[in-house]
Amino acid sequence: MMLITRFSDHSLRMQIALVFGALVVGLSVLLSLGFGELLKHRIQRDAGNSLQVVAENAGKLLALGLMQRSLEAEVMASAEVVWSKGLDSAEAQHMLARSQAMQPTNVWIGVADAQGVVRNATNGLLVGQSVAQRPWFQHGLQGVHVGDVHAAQLLESLLPPTATGEPHRFVDFAAPIRIGPTTVGVFAIHGSWQWTREVLESLTPASSDESALELFIFDRQGTLIFAPGGRTEVMRAAGQRLPEGIQINNNRDGGGSTQTTVARWQDGKRYLTAATQLQPRNAASDLGWRIVARQPVELAFAEADDTVQLALAIGLVAALFASALAWLAARRLSVDLYALADAASGVEAGRPGSDIPAMQSSREVQQLSQSLGRMTHHLLAAREAMEEKVRLRTLELEAANRALDLQARTDALTGLLNRRGFETQMAFAVALARRSSRPLSLITVDVDHFKRVNDTYGHEAGDEVLRRLARTLESRLRGSDVVARLGGEEFVALLPDTDLNGAQSIAQALVTAMAEQQDPVVGTITVSAGVATMRGAEDNGAAMLRRGDAALYEAKGQGRNRVCVEA
Ligand code: GH3
Ligand code: MG
Ligand code: MG
Repeated sequence: MMLITRFSDHSLRMQIALVFGALVVGLSVLLSLGFGELLKHRIQRDAGNSLQVVAENAGKLLALGLMQRSLEAEVMASAEVVWSKGLDSAEAQHMLARSQAMQPTNVWIGVADAQGVVRNATNGLLVGQSVAQRPWFQHGLQGVHVGDVHAAQLLESLLPPTATGEPHRFVDFAAPIRIGPTTVGVFAIHGSWQWTREVLESLTPASSDESALELFIFDRQGTLIFAPGGRTEVMRAAGQRLPEGIQINNNRDGGGSTQTTVARWQDGKRYLTAATQLQPRNAASDLGWRIVARQPVELAFAEADDTVQLALAIGLVAALFASALAWLAARRLSVDLYALADAASGVEAGRPGSDIPAMQSSREVQQLSQSLGRMTHHLLAAREAMEEKVRLRTLELEAANRALDLQARTDALTGLLNRRGFETQMAFAVALARRSSRPLSLITVDVDHFKRVNDTYGHEAGDEVLRRLARTLESRLRGSDVVARLGGEEFVALLPDTDLNGAQSIAQALVTAMAEQQDPVVGTITVSAGVATMRGAEDNGAAMLRRGDAALYEAKGQGRNRVCVEA
């Protein structure tokens, strides 16, 4: 079964409706997809802007915090009055305790002497132990130092567990303690990484659960050092590094053009991602961190997708409407066209009174119906004229045929019937005689020594003799008798209602009459005749003619210019 029909097989109405529907569907798909893309572009820009702002603010706060801590370490280290009383003096201890009370996220504050032995610390942690190998100590001897985040080494077992259950991580701040020109030790603060979490969470909007906005920190090498929700270790173990292809906003003011990209993260999902580099507030705190804000694309673009779907739905409904309208509009047209086709079939079939009606539904149809009407009238008139012509031609042809027929049956020289014409008449006369049982006789006539006439006086004279004989035969016979020239100088006369005796006397009178005539050129011309009559119903024309010829032959044999009767 053919499920797909050709477009041209549909009605005009259907075609128009289909075309309109397809047009509107195509248009609305194009428009909604185009607008969807535009909208996505806008959203990417706007959402990207807010992501960028969050990332930049986080960067500023973190930079500020780092700067403050390093300043704090520097200020504390320069309290020469306290340190001159001894690194482990009561005043020094008191100062450390006060400092920690002011900043609880500073997990450990302590002092090591120039040999790297801890001489004083909050809660007495690590006092007496050597930190000579720790980077903060080595750098701290030289000057103010801020150390990148690292896992707790010596303190891990000494501290209570963290809120998220992750291992303790610190950012170290250290500064040299100098009395006069002599460096006597290093002052150090281990700031809890917890501090970062608080800063970043304070920046993530309250609605961030809904918008799923998240902030991450990667170090200079692109290693993940902070992920929200205590997932730093998990994500690091899964291999999450700074996603490739994202642009780092390196603008010192944090302003300018913000770049947001759609990047694929390690979990395989695509996120709208904005990144900024930490701008240090002092030389010591330049850790090169990259603060990255992200939002899942499906959430970011949900609005755009919804809009596209709505636009498509509206387009579809509009297409249905357009098709229905086109269908209705085409109705008037197609009704008229069907009526025209109907009328044309009527004219074609020659239905009486059928004509092309005038249509009004549109200018084209109006014109079409008028032209068709005129054409029909012309065609009908032409057909009538043609039929009249054919009738006349037929009549002429019939007349010509009759003339031809007559010609075929007539002898041109004498105007008598020829052999063909005679045979028809004889068959008719024989049938009539048979039915009526009336006599029928015939006389065959032949000019005597005619060859001599031709030879002596010429063919023209001979023809004249034949014409005279024909006239003599006609004048001496009855109207009902049939006279014909059978060929050459042989004639025959068929005499209905005449018996052998009657025919014999008529033949005799004929022979005598010819012999008495004087031709002006040829002189006397005689003829011989043979007589035969019909012998009952079984007899026929051909046999009678044969017997008549035999009698004629007999007359020639007996000396010519005489009549002989059949044997
Ligand atoms: P017979 O007495 O035995 O009949 O002798 P004949 O000469 O009349 O007979 P034959 O049959 O020998 O000659 C017939 C001649 O008739 C021969 C031909 O030239 C002539 N003839 C036949 N048809 C015509 C014709 O239409 N016109 C003319 N002028 N001559 C004709
Ligand atoms: Mg002859
Ligand atoms: Mg002859």
